[in-house]
Order: sequence, then C-alpha cells, then structure tokens
Amino acid sequence: MEVYTMVSSYQNRLTTIKDQDKSIAFVPTMGALHSGHLELMKTARGKADLVVASIFVNPTQFNEESDLVNYPKPLDHDIHLLENNQVDILFLPTTTEVYPPGIDLSMQLNFGNLTTVMEGEHRPGHFEGVVMVVHRLLDIIQPDYLIMGQKDLQQMTIIQSMIQQLDLSVALVGHSIVREASGLARSSRNTRISDELRPTAPILYKTLQWASESKPRLSPEEITTTAMQRLKEAGFVPEYFTIADADSLMPIQHWRETDKPVACVAAWLGDVRLIDNMRLYEARVDA
Ligand code: AMP
Repeated sequence: MEVYTMVSSYQNRLTTIKDQDKSIAFVPTMGALHSGHLELMKTARGKADLVVASIFVNPTQFNEESDLVNYPKPLDHDIHLLENNQVDILFLPTTTEVYPPGIDLSMQLNFGNLTTVMEGEHRPGHFEGVVMVVHRLLDIIQPDYLIMGQKDLQQMTIIQSMIQQLDLSVALVGHSIVREASGLARSSRNTRISDELRPTAPILYKTLQWASESKPRLSPEEITTTAMQRLKEAGFVPEYFTIADADSLMPIQHWRETDKPVACVAAWLGDVRLIDNMRLYEARVDA
C-alpha cells in the first residue's frame, strides 16, 4: 500500500493515475477502523480500479474538545488492516496539509433543514466541519466514487446535497449499516463502552427493531415517546429518537405512502455517544 502524508506527493501520483485512465473509489475515515469500515473498502474495490482510503481525525467536526482528545487513534493497527484489505493508497495528512494557512474554504451552500435537525441540533457546527473536510478531501483525491456508510444517514444526505449544489463529478455510494451479532452498529466509539454497560448497548438496536415492528399499530408520535422511555429505562440518556423522512430528514407526524420513514436515534451510554437508524419502509428496487 502506498501512503501519502502530503497533498503535493499524492497529487504527483494522481497525475499518473489520470494518465492511465484509472478510476478511483474513495473511503474517507477518521481511523480506529473496524469491520464496518472494511466493508466500505470492499464495496470500493468492486467499483473502481484503485481504492484510496484516508485517515484524518478532522478537528473542525468535533463540537466537544473531550471527544476529539478521547477519539481512539490506533494508527499502526489501522495501517495493517488497510494493507490486508487490498487498499491501494492511504492518504494520511496532518491538519496543516488539509487546512494550510490562508486557504479559503468558504462555500455558498444552502442545506435548508438538513443541517439543523437531529445531529445538527445536538452537535452545533458538526456538519459545517464535515462538509468542509469532505469537500477539501474530494478536491485533493479527485475520486470517481465516494463511499459512505448509512450509519451516518444525515451526513450522507448532506454530502449528496453538497455534490448536487456544487455539481461535482463524483458518485456517492451508500453502504448499509454493519452490525455486531448483538445488533449493535459497529463504531469506533464502541471500544470506549465500559464492560459494565456493554450488555446494555444492543438495546439501542432492539428499540429501533421494536419501532419497526410497531409501525402497523402505533403513530410516529406514540413510537417516539415510548422509544425514548424504553431507552431511559434501559440506562441510556437519549438525545433524540425521531421518525424522519429519509429525503427531507423532517419529522413525520402521520404515516403516508409517499414518505420514506427512518427511525433515527442518538443516545449516551455512560460517556459514549451512540447513533443508529433503521429504515421503516421497503426500498423500491428499480427495474
Ligand atoms: P468514521 O471513521 O466514523 O468517520 O466513518 C467513516 C465511514 O465509515 C463513514 O462513511 C461512516 O458512515 C462509515 N461507517 C462507520 N461505521 C459504520 C457501520 N457500522 N456500518 C456502515 N458504515 C459505517
């Protein structure tokens, strides 16, 4: 695996990639890799000639300093995993490479409510940081495909909107949520859950499943209220449990054929903040 820490050296390499007309699938990460990330690498492999992954713990998307400081950074292990999973190129920049002094990263974009609900409401400034870093990384890496996980559903929706607004020539490919056998969505933050609270963690997924099963009997509001209560009783401190439309991300009040309801949740378990979501509609498969 080739590793580039500088934008200029990656861009030298990019010249030969483009000269050889090779396509690139790009998987941005913040490291602390788990099998969810590796599934994204596998999808990338199937899409393009070359797989480029990045590891960059982006400071501008952390709204709490302690989360940034405590974010796990097992770099040697990560590099080993990428090498063993047929990643061709790792982009591993410093903060100064991504945000060199004097660079103008301002953009005139309008996300409407996409950035103000759910994660946007509870993590002020988070999506501004995500949009800034993904835009900068796309500008550096120049991929044909961008692979992202549906675990961060709101992030994917916002990045898709950014791609459309800026008319970027990259195709966003979403990957379904990778879970542990218990149902818990894989996350770099899971390693920080204490042994004592570990058995509680899958209740987040089980509550989403309960919401899905309850759709024929209960209104969105009844599900939301009961789900919040269930999570509190289990020992979580939930920030939100919302049934939102997958496209607009606005809360759904009544079940309607035209909506694409997704149950989305964020909850603290001890000092670890977990998010998850589950689609409550059948995906239409186009012929
Ligand atoms: P992160 O390193 O947490 O920023 O995640 C990098 C990418 O991996 C993002 O597109 C995430 O949505 C995706 N990802 C993280 N965990 C999972 C998971 N359990 N299933 C699917 N995708 C995931």
